[in-house]
Amino acid sequence: MKLLVDLHTHTVASGHAYSTVMEMAKAAKDKGLEGIAITDHGPALPGGAHPFHFWNLRVLPKEIFGVRILKGAEANIVNLKGELDLEDELLETLDVVLLAFHPSCGYEDRGIAGNTKTMISALKNPNIHIIAHPGNPSFPVDAAEVIAAAKEYNAVIELNNSSLLPTASRLGSYESCLSIANEAYKSGSEIVVSSDAHIATGIGNFDNAINLALKAGFSEERILNSSINKVLNFLKIKSLS
Ligand SMILES: [Zn+2]
Ligand SMILES: [Zn+2]
Repeated sequence: MKLLVDLHTHTVASGHAYSTVMEMAKAAKDKGLEGIAITDHGPALPGGAHPFHFWNLRVLPKEIFGVRILKGAEANIVNLKGELDLEDELLETLDVVLLAFHPSCGYEDRGIAGNTKTMISALKNPNIHIIAHPGNPSFPVDAAEVIAAAKEYNAVIELNNSSLLPTASRLGSYESCLSIANEAYKSGSEIVVSSDAHIATGIGNFDNAINLALKAGFSEERILNSSINKVLNFLKIKSLS
């Protein structure tokens, strides 16, 4: 399986990631990718990027080294109501917005029922495109309910490759990611497979997540990031805009 777009990557702007936009774009080109999204952490995460970082993403060229660069953010859920750490007015200016639970951002684990309710409230925000690492065992959710809500609000769920690596910060993700992948498959939804690279060498590393997607029954056709055209179509971006 060949996936040509990486929709979840971090640069030095995230505070705990180690490459620049230029280094990420070069690595993407070397790996033969058609596009990447730069999705640095929102400001609620300690060390995360300031809102000015996201406002100013407009200075990035549409392509670097022939790789389409999508301007994004990994927004944090900051409270029980599912509010985010970046304002809507700003999110509207971005190409791609990931939604995630992270520790130390104001929202703490409330168990499956509480996390699911908050996640679904957050999903009502029309600026969200992708739920990042919904299989995080630190913030368990009801897979079927979250997938149904994602479908209703036009968001897709992510299988996060770095959650499945031995170096993962979300250790123990395999079982919950597999059950989410199985539910997503049953529901007929498309999914996204992302690297969540925090250094350029990790760009386009999808192998563990692809294996899991295959195990759940997915083929390339139902993985959104298999081509830049599918991604741009989903994000409603005209390819030359
Ligand atoms: Zn994350
Ligand atoms: Zn991330």
